[in-house]
Order: sequence, then C-alpha cells, then structure tokens
Amino acid sequence: MLQHMTETKTSGVAPGTIDFGYRRVGEHEKAGLVRSVFDRVAGRYDLMNDLMSGGIHRLWKAELIDRLNPRRSETILDVAGGTGDVALAVIDRRGVAGEVIVCDINRAMLETGRDRAIDRGVLVGIDWLCGDAERLPVASASVDAYTIAFGLRNVTRLDAALAEARRVLKPGGRFFCLEFSHVVLPALARLYDLYSFQIVPRLGAIVAGDRDAYQYLVESIRRFPPQDELLDRIEAAGFERTRYRNLTGGIAALHSGWRL
Ligand code: SAM
Repeated sequence: MLQHMTETKTSGVAPGTIDFGYRRVGEHEKAGLVRSVFDRVAGRYDLMNDLMSGGIHRLWKAELIDRLNPRRSETILDVAGGTGDVALAVIDRRGVAGEVIVCDINRAMLETGRDRAIDRGVLVGIDWLCGDAERLPVASASVDAYTIAFGLRNVTRLDAALAEARRVLKPGGRFFCLEFSHVVLPALARLYDLYSFQIVPRLGAIVAGDRDAYQYLVESIRRFPPQDELLDRIEAAGFERTRYRNLTGGIAALHSGWRL
C-alpha cells in the first residue's frame, strides 16, 4: 500500500501530460494549478510550514544559508522564493548589503512576503519579482548565487528551470536546491508516509482551510526525482562539482553545484 506511494516513475504516460501530484494533467495546465494552490494558501503558508514540520524547515533553511555563506557584495537570486524565508535569512546573516532578489510566479506569496519583511523592519535590500523559474526575467550571467527552496518540485519543466539557473549565474556562481526528497531510512520512511498521508492533509484542512493543497504537497514529493537522479539532471544542465546532502534522513536534500 505505502510502497506505490513512493514510486516516482510512471510508465505508459500520455504524451504532453505531466504529474500534478498523482494526477496526470496537460503540460499547459500545471502552472495554473500550482498557482491556484499557492493563491489559496498564501496567508497561512508560513504558519503551516511551522506546524507541519515542527519547525524543522527552519533548520533545513539554516543549513542552506550556512552552505551559501552569503558575502556582503553578492547578488543572490532566490527563485520560487514565496514569502521570502530564504531572502530574510540571507539578510539576517549578512545585513542589507548586496542584493537579494525573490522571484516567484505567484503574486499572493510575494505580497505576503513583502508585508512580512516590512513588519520586520526590512525595507531595503530585497527586490520582489514576479516571474517563472522556466523563463526568468533576469539578465544572463548577472547573479552570484541561485537558490531554490521547495520550488523545483512545482515547476512544469524541471530541466528548463535548471537551464535558466545556469543562464543567470555568473561564471563562478553557485547553485543550491533545497527540496523534499526520498527518505533513506526504512523505519523513518514508514512513519513519514503515515504522517504525510494521514496527518498533513488534515492539518491543511483545519489550519489553511484547504485539504487538497496539502494532499498535492505530499503527492508531489513522491513524484519528485530521487536524490541521485536530480544530481544527474543538475549535471546535465551544465553544472560542475555537484553534490547533495540528505537532511533528516532524506526527508529533504540539499543539492549544489557550480557554474564554471
Ligand atoms: N521558497 C519558499 C520557502 O521555502 O518557503 C516557498 C516555497 S513554496 C513550497 C513553492 C513556491 O514556488 C510558491 O511560492 C510558488 O508560487 C512557487 N512556484 C511554483 N511554480 C513556480 C514557477 N514556475 N516559477 C517560480 N515560482 C514558482
């Protein structure tokens, strides 16, 4: 029963279709469906993250910031940056020097993030940009580091998003992807599946008033490529010195690479 939930390859798929959780939808439909998910949950997104993960997502993001180790002069592009968690963590780490660009396809998420930044007294140092990870409205070779946290799983064409990441990075620039991944500890996998499928959608219904959005979340995680496959695809996009690190037994993974 739980076995098929972790299956990531789909055989005999209809051409021109793509996974949206466990459903197959037309490629042209996915972006709209994803946008609608985040439109619906934007106001409760941060609270849900804390509740669902017991705050662990903050530790994962802290790990990303440690690896990124942002320097004061760097321009950092945080794609699918949503409500600005990564951008605000960069500013907490290095102050408002340099520039952080939060790019997201969803205006409601960006507006929630901008309001949160203002509430925290962060008025400069962050640009909020509405755009698609597959067609970034950002000049080629213009950023020092590219980050994407829990975003790559939501794009329609993962390889197109990776190619865009490489395009916008300066030579010598660094790529980081923090994403839910595949649990590598069998005992944890069983518990995690139970938690994901039995608890998370119910929490979504109670807290965000949207069970379907959180059902999509847990399904989309199972459909996302496993760690090694993602690493291969990052390499295929032209990144070098690629590697990944499992976090919390593979519930999440942090992939990285260099654009040399
Ligand atoms: N990075 C934030 C974080 O870690 O809290 C937000 C992650 S949230 C799970 C996923 C975000 O990806 C949403 O804000 C959504 O609007 C955005 N997104 C989905 N598809 C996108 C795309 N094609 N281009 C840019 N952003 C996208």
